[in-house]
Amino acid sequence: MREGVLKRYRDFLEITPNTPMISMGEGNTPLVRSRFIANELGCGELYFKLEGCNPSGSFKDRGMVMAVAKAIEAGSTAIMCASTGNTSASAAAYGAYCGLTTIVLVPKGEIAAGKMAQALAFRPNIMVVSGTFDQALTMVRTFTEKYPVTLVNSLNPYRIEGQKTAAFEIVDDLGDAPDYLFIPVGNAGNITAYWRGFCEYNSLGKSTKRPRMMGFQAEGSAPIVRGEPIAEPKTVASAIRIGNPASWKQALTARDESDGIIDSVSDDEILAAYKMLASKEGIFGEPASAASVAGVAKLSRGGMDFSDKRVVCVITGTGLKDPDLASQQADMPLQELPLDLGAMEKALEEVVKESLSLRAKAIEVIPWYPEPIC
Ligand SMILES: *Cc1c(COP(=O)(O)O)cnc(C)c1O
Repeated sequence: MREGVLKRYRDFLEITPNTPMISMGEGNTPLVRSRFIANELGCGELYFKLEGCNPSGSFKDRGMVMAVAKAIEAGSTAIMCASTGNTSASAAAYGAYCGLTTIVLVPKGEIAAGKMAQALAFRPNIMVVSGTFDQALTMVRTFTEKYPVTLVNSLNPYRIEGQKTAAFEIVDDLGDAPDYLFIPVGNAGNITAYWRGFCEYNSLGKSTKRPRMMGFQAEGSAPIVRGEPIAEPKTVASAIRIGNPASWKQALTARDESDGIIDSVSDDEILAAYKMLASKEGIFGEPASAASVAGVAKLSRGGMDFSDKRVVCVITGTGLKDPDLASQQADMPLQELPLDLGAMEKALEEVVKESLSLRAKAIEVIPWYPEPIC
């Protein structure tokens, strides 16, 4: 039973007797140990936190459930956000679940097809503006200050509060904090939330240490790395296509207090990690999520030694959010087959042979592979 983050972590959140304990089963996402990439990148232990397993397919649900619960507690009946996609999908889902009026503003042409289709399915009031995410967010901030509508972007303090539960889960699963946390950085709310979660748990004695926070932006959208806002951010990873992060200062605090870094990776590095994650680990994350893995790859190539370290990469959303990019990157001809068994046998001859040769290695590769009987 997935009880949701409000119930599971109620003692660590601002829950009052009047807070509605809503849940769509968010949180409690898998922490999967890497079997192949860890060796390639020279990591002692490497884990992936699969945030795409949340109800709307991204980590945004952890913060949204908290923000929406507190909005209802305060008597609000309307929520609003600007979004590169996942925030709107999450807001619209929880808005529908709670029967609220949901208003969503998205930058025209900047939002991945899966997120748009998903957001529309929940039937929010959705508007498309010709401008960047940052410009849309400015408009939403002004509007929600003027009207009785609750802002549910990560400027809403309850968003960050709810999102910190992911750090709790990692510590609860591993029995301690990892040495490193790699995470994509867009508006920088999530890195802020994780750092808060790790600090709170540590001060309560639930962990012996706090991880070094390793934030990664996309090269064409790296305002924090460059030290100045970017008017027209560009990257294939739409979820982190943000030129002026709302939680900029807090991200720097997380970096500095944890002795971490905020660095950037190129789109090519992001796409290489995106494909590697799927083909070598069976994990289909969205492009922005792959920035965390691309970050480990970059530092490992640069000579950083993770061989006796425990590393966690946050896979922030599911790959299904961006089907266009997935098809484009698949770049694999589909083999046509006549409806004929003979043709199939011929076509698969090599494949079967190859799989038999795999048997010899299977015991090493798959620890739970049975010993051959003969
Ligand atoms: C929102 C989002 C991010 C960026 O998180 P921030 O809190 O804005 O830094 C990264 N990946 C995915 C999939 C997202 O939805």
